[in-house]
Amino acid sequence: MEQDLFRLKEEAVQALQDITAASELEPFRVKYLGRKGGSLTGIMRQLAQVPKEDRPRLGQLANTVKKEVTSLFEQKKEQLSAEKGTEVSAALDVSLPGRRLPRGKLHPVTQVMEEICSIFEGLGFAIAEGPDVETDHYNFEALNIPKHHPARDMHDTFYVSDSILLRTHTSPMQARIMEKHDPPLRYIAPGKVYRCDSDITHTPMFVQVEGFLVDRKVSFADLKGVLTSFLHRMFSDDLSVRFRPSFFPFTEPSAEVDIACVICGGKGCRVCKQTGWIEILGAGLIDPEVMKMVGYDPDEYSGFAFGLGVERIAMLKYGINDIRLYYENDLRFLSQF
Ligand SMILES: [Zn+2]
Repeated sequence: MEQDLFRLKEEAVQALQDITAASELEPFRVKYLGRKGGSLTGIMRQLAQVPKEDRPRLGQLANTVKKEVTSLFEQKKEQLSAEKGTEVSAALDVSLPGRRLPRGKLHPVTQVMEEICSIFEGLGFAIAEGPDVETDHYNFEALNIPKHHPARDMHDTFYVSDSILLRTHTSPMQARIMEKHDPPLRYIAPGKVYRCDSDITHTPMFVQVEGFLVDRKVSFADLKGVLTSFLHRMFSDDLSVRFRPSFFPFTEPSAEVDIACVICGGKGCRVCKQTGWIEILGAGLIDPEVMKMVGYDPDEYSGFAFGLGVERIAMLKYGINDIRLYYENDLRFLSQF
């Protein structure tokens, strides 16, 4: 019986070493340690037939063997479950493509503004940016709009104090640049502007690009050439453009510029109010009074200026009928561009 125990122990130790998967553990336990029919259990049952004087010694030996095998079995169990963790990572296919995070895009108004700037840069204009909080002087006075001038009504202004305001157009840059530099000058000033106004075609904050050119012998023909060229690049080469007389305090003569309706192609629709034309920007030759205010001699220099709303151009380019959609931060809308 003693030899049986040693042989069984060796056999069990060997069998345990051969185990490589957790699924083989239970059959091993049943075979060697099981209460019913397990080999060790079977040998211990034979103790009853052993001579009385040998019984304590053999009993102790059998118990030791059982303890050893059980403890080895537990060790194996732990070892296998620890390996299971690394098995999972081994199943990870590192060659699989990673999950992509959704990619952000530039706001449609920013995209259109960048396009406008790049077209004017191509025409030789430099870009200038100025402060959103402006003085009454640069926003109005320097542009030939004195206090109590009725043209101030066209600008529903947000005042910070009596002489400080949120700029109502980016035109203050015109006076700021002309004060510091001598002609020839070609600049555009893109940026946010503010007016107390909100409906489907107006928002309290919108983006404007104002531009001007000053040199000797600049005529209305130059103005028409530059703006027509810009509109053709922005929309299409065969786009019809027309200039209508208008009034702005800082230009004389002044014009509003229309393009053939991009929605109906000039046939007449709801967007163009059946006229076939859509107003796109305002422009004119710089008023001699504005030239004098920055110290230029209006007999020597002349120039033109223009201003356009970026949202308006973006609305026409993408066929959007409510300007407020641009500022509702609805990703379903914004992700289309
Ligand atoms: Zn139309």
